[in-house]
Parts: sequence; C-alpha cells; structure tokens
Amino acid sequence: MSTTARPFTATILGSPRIGPNRELKRAVEKYWAGRIGRDELEAVAATLRRDTWSSLVAAGLDSVPVNTFSYYDQVLDTAVLVGALPSRVDGIADDLDRYFAAARGNDEIPPLEMTKWFDTNYHYIVPEIAPDTTFALNPAKVLGELEEARAQGIPARPVIVGPLTFLALSKAVEGADAPIGQLDDLVAVYAELLDVLAEKGVGWLQIDEPVLVTDILDNAAELAERTYTRLGGLARRPSIFVATYFGELDDALPALARTPVEAIGVDLVAGTGAALAAVPELADKLLVAGVVDGRNIWRTDLEDALGTLSTLLAGARSVAVSTSCSTLHVPYTLDTEDDLDAALRCWLAFGFEKVTEVVALARGLEDGGEAISAEIGASNAAIESRKSDPRLNNNQIRNRISAIAASGANRGPADRRRAAQQDRLKLPALPTTTIGSYPQTSAIRIARADLRAGKIDVAEYERRMKAEIADVIKLQEQLGLDVLVHGEPERNDMVQYFAEQLDGFFATQNGWVQSYGSRCVRPPILYGDVARPKPMTVEWITYAQSLTDKPVKGMLTGPVTILAWSFVRDDQPLADTAAQVALAIRDETVDLQSAGIAIIQVDEPALRELLPLRSKDKEAYLNWAVDAFRLSTSGVDDSTQIHTHLCYSEFGEVIGAIADLDADVTSIEAARSHMEVLGDLNAVGFSNSVGPGVYDIHSPRIPGVEEIAMSLREALRAVPAERLWVNPDCGLKTRTTAEVTESLKHLVAAAAEVRGA
Ligand code: GLN
Ligand code: ZN
Repeated sequence: MSTTARPFTATILGSPRIGPNRELKRAVEKYWAGRIGRDELEAVAATLRRDTWSSLVAAGLDSVPVNTFSYYDQVLDTAVLVGALPSRVDGIADDLDRYFAAARGNDEIPPLEMTKWFDTNYHYIVPEIAPDTTFALNPAKVLGELEEARAQGIPARPVIVGPLTFLALSKAVEGADAPIGQLDDLVAVYAELLDVLAEKGVGWLQIDEPVLVTDILDNAAELAERTYTRLGGLARRPSIFVATYFGELDDALPALARTPVEAIGVDLVAGTGAALAAVPELADKLLVAGVVDGRNIWRTDLEDALGTLSTLLAGARSVAVSTSCSTLHVPYTLDTEDDLDAALRCWLAFGFEKVTEVVALARGLEDGGEAISAEIGASNAAIESRKSDPRLNNNQIRNRISAIAASGANRGPADRRRAAQQDRLKLPALPTTTIGSYPQTSAIRIARADLRAGKIDVAEYERRMKAEIADVIKLQEQLGLDVLVHGEPERNDMVQYFAEQLDGFFATQNGWVQSYGSRCVRPPILYGDVARPKPMTVEWITYAQSLTDKPVKGMLTGPVTILAWSFVRDDQPLADTAAQVALAIRDETVDLQSAGIAIIQVDEPALRELLPLRSKDKEAYLNWAVDAFRLSTSGVDDSTQIHTHLCYSEFGEVIGAIADLDADVTSIEAARSHMEVLGDLNAVGFSNSVGPGVYDIHSPRIPGVEEIAMSLREALRAVPAERLWVNPDCGLKTRTTAEVTESLKHLVAAAAEVRGA
C-alpha cells in the first residue's frame, strides 16, 4: 500500500479556463481559422494555466487542481486519455487537429454529439462507445500539465473525470451495448494511470464522479463500491479523492466510504449532507466539504458554513473546505465589474472571491471563528442588506400572477387554433423557416463595438441594426423561405437581451463563462422581482414585417431558459421566479399580437437543462416549467401561432412536457440525433406541428440537397406532411453568411423536392 498523502485543507474542485478576458477563446478561434500556429496557441494556454495556478496559491489554497485546463472540453479530454476517440478521426495525423475534428467535425467527418453537463449550461462532448472500442492509456496531457505545475512549485492535484461518469455519459453506437458494460476494461486503464501518477510521485488525485448524485446508473452505489475498491486496492497509487457534486449522494455515500479511497467530496450547497453523520467509515477519511457555491454567484453565509464545517469535523478524520463544484461555471472575478451598485456588489462572489471565502473558512475551521470575525461580519451585513432591499418585493407583479393563475393559463383547443392559423397564414405543406438568429456579421460586431466606445449614438446603432434586418429579410425572400425571421442582430445574447430590459436583472460587463468549446456566455444576475417597464422587441419585429409580405416570426426567450441561463436568486422557489419572468414574456406576446404579428416563437432550449438530477424531483419541476411556458403563451388569440424551439439534448425524459407546452409548432434538434425524437413525440400522443432540425448548425459542414431530402422523407414516416416543418436544428448566428446561404438554398430545394414527390 502506498503512503497516504497529507490531507489538504483548502481547495476548489476546478476553475475557469477561458481566460479572464477570454484569451483562450480568441486563440483557439484563430488557430481554427489558420491565423496562428500550434506553438502560439500552446503558449497562450500555458500562460493561462500558469496565471490561474499562481493566483490560487497566492490566495492561500494548499492543493491546486491541475488538468482542469481544456482546449475544448474535459469529457473529450477524458476520451483522449483513455483512447476512446471514434475511429473516424483516426486518419488525422496531428493529435490536436484530431481532437478538434472530434469536437467540431470537418468537411468529411461529422462531430461527436454535444449535450448539457448535468443540470448546468455547460455542454460536454458525448463520447461514442462502439463494439470495437478498446481503451488504451494516453496520459500525455495530464502528465504535461503536472510537470508544468510542478516546475512552478504548485501543490498540484491532477483532476480526471471518473470511469463511472465517463461511461454513464457516453453513447453506445453501432449496436454496442450500454457503455457501462465496459467498466472493467476502462477501470483497468485508470489503474494503469494511477500507477504512472504514483511513479511521478503524485500525492493526491481527484477523480470526478458527479454521476453518483444522479439516477443515470441503476446500480450506482454497487458500481462505485466495486470500482473504488479495485482502484483503492492497487499496490502503487496516489491518494484518491473522489469528488461528487451537483446533488446528494444517497446510498453511493456509504458505498464509497467502505472503499479504501482517502477522500470523498460532497456538495453541501446542492445537497444537505444530512446523511454524513450516519456513515461511520467517514471517520478515517478526509471529507472535502463543498460549502462555497461553485456555480452560483451569491456570497457565502460564512457563519452558517463554518457551523456546518465544525459539525462535519466531528464525524471525519479531517475536513477540507472547498467549492461545491468547479468554478468553471462562474465568472473570474468581481473586480472588473465597475457598474455594480454597492448593495448588489456586496451580495456577490465570483470565482476569485469564492477562493478567498474557501481560504477564510479553512482558517476559521483551524483557528476558530474569531480568527475570521471581520470576514464573518461582512458576510452577515451583506445578507442583511439583501433581505431588506425593496427591489426584492414587488406586490403588483405578485398579485397579477395570482390572478392569471386563478383563471387558468390555457389556450383554445389545438384543432380550432390550427384552423384559425391556416386561414390567416395560408402556408404550403412542409413550410420552411429558420430558428431565429442569422450570422453575426462583422458589421454587427463593429456597430456594437462603436456603440460601446461611444463612436456612434443609439440612433445610429439602431439604423445599422435595421440595415442588417433588411439584408436578412432580403436574403430569406431570395431563398424562398416561407416564414421569415428578423435575424436577431440587436441581441447580444438571447437571455441577456431581455435581462437588460427587465427590472430585477443585472447584466455584468465581463462575467463570461464557458458554454461549449470556445463559446462563452455572460449570464445575467436575476436578483429581484421581475417586471417589464416597456415592450422589448415590438419595434424590431414590426420593422422586419414592414419589409415583406411573408409572415415574420416574433422571437422571444421563454421563462425556463431565461432562468437556466441566468444566475438566479436563491431566496425563493425557482417556480415563483419563473412565473414572474413568464408574466413579462406574456405581456410581450400580447403587444406583438396587437402590432399585427401572426407568429411568435418562445424559445425553450433549456427546458431539459434544469431537469432535476434525481427522478423523484422531476415531476414537480416539469409541472412548474410547463406552467410557466403556458402562462407566457396563453395571452394570445387562437389565430396567433405560437412556436417553440428546443435543442441540445436527449429529450427522452422531457418528451411528455414538450407535448404539454402545447405550442402550435415545435422546432427541435434532431440533426445530430437522427430523427429519433419524432417517434418519441408520437409515443406521448403529441399531435401539434413539429420541425425536426434537418441540419446541424454546430458544424461548418454544408448539407447536400439529397441528404436533407432524405431526412425529410425519414421524418415523413413518423409525421404527416400537414404537421411537418422544415428548419435547421438551431439558430444560425455562429455560422458565416456564405455557409448559411448555401445550406438554406439546399434546405429550400429539398423541401420543394419532397413536396413535389
Ligand atoms: N432563437 C434563437 C436563435 O436562433 C434560439 C437559440 C437556441 O436555441 N439556443 O439563435
Ligand atoms: Zn437551438
């Protein structure tokens, strides 16, 4: 048995990697565009790692996560680590280009699928496990980062995604059985890795197993015990820290505690830790207590957290203070936010501030609460000021919501709506449309930058945006699409755009977090009661409609998605917050209708994302989520057609809820997951119209006419022509105008071909 490493006292489970000013995003995109070489990209990455590590050590952490850097995604990194990239990228000689091809595809190769990481807005790359997948260790990345960190004198703790989580999140392909069946083979590769790391003298290794807080695996506890008994029993290995996060461990906790691993991490923000006291085996473990919220931006109640930590200390060999999960999900620092009012600032903690909270708590745990009395005083004052702020209680809004809920937020029967809408819109069979956004052209970016820099005024900015809208309308008319959109040029982001116009939200200046790959988002902070001072979209949509005789879809973001992509208040049930946002959206739909708009899309791409990780909590969530959507869409007449759009996910568990949304038309991602979703919709009795995405907008690849026609014919086997729409699987803003023009030309041609057939 190897000697146990000295317990650490203060750490975080992982950190942001995009760079405080999105340096990595810019470098990676330049590399993809061929504007910089690999050396330059690697230099940017190394600098970011070095700066991150040294700031964590300077702040006082005594164990620092490494290998949490990624050029794209940590699950894809793990696929590389265990030699599980799909064979279709084998031919690409350069390892970095092979990696990016797996993530993004290229002209010949479709990419791996991408989906949400548990209930967050981070997307991971879904590994594919085929019958002939054989795992093989490829530790270059983790060893490289380890060496780098050591050269810098960092108390480095490598982090890897664990075998249970890796397989549970993978997808079986080519008729393979469920990937978890290959657990033993995969654990053998992890065993090899542990041996290599031990040889390098690694003290602690963090193995992330968030899957253990979910019901994804039927026998999670048993598999965890088997896996970590095996890894824990290796003759030569580092001390093992199994990190879990995003929820409560349940019976996987005693199971893990029975194994020889030295440390277990629990999320005490998402979970209560109530079960910890009942697990005697914890008495000889290091308990890594995630008391500082790693994924929301509220300041920690230090007094309360210190109380929790002191209680835990009674039941464990030792306790380390940590964030509840990686701070990948929060912005770097509050320092760069000069626009925050003082009250709001003192309620918040971003990534760096969370590190200082961890360090303070570790000191408090070691030396007693008096040692951090100043920090506790400031934390208590912040909590008091938040409780008493009038912006958190708007009775007029609360009363209106109760009144609508009491009278029932329902629309007329679906067939009556269909008849009224067909009468008004007179659309052909297989109507073609797009999901909302068009390419973010350089003219748009320049206009935004000029406005920010004060080079142009708002009137000039709006004039330029209208010019963009006119271009997009013209393009769509030339392409012959049936239902047009205005292209969303005025929206920096589909949530932030609304947040900036609603009371109760604060939009940060530099609060970027990684969404997927090089894509970053800036989630607004939903801190108070939500109200809509005035219409938010009517002017843009009516302008677009004035340019064409074809119907233009009004474009709104739904309440669940606004919540999912914001940092939400934690002082009231999410359902209450959702209803407030829904009321604001409802008011907007009514105003759009009054302005003559006949079709309104309320996007809910994040519907599945907020789905609770445990089965027992799912029904209650889906009920309030559906209620919020219906509240937001039931204010309009039968003849106004409501669309919704969903993407990025396996829809299985929310499929019933999608039907319950009762939108007239649902566009849904299907291009990457091959139309499976239509059968699932049929199975739950869904009988409204549906537009399964016929091409993948996440990839630069241009689909051919025949390929799209084939998808449509496949769709027609599941859905009759009068209910089928033709559209891409998501908005087009990440693509170029050339790509979009070509792809949509093919889409319209394919629809015509299939209509004629
Ligand atoms: N209407 C949005 C767009 O087209 C929808 C984006 C999304 O689903 N994520 O950009
Ligand atoms: Zn989408």
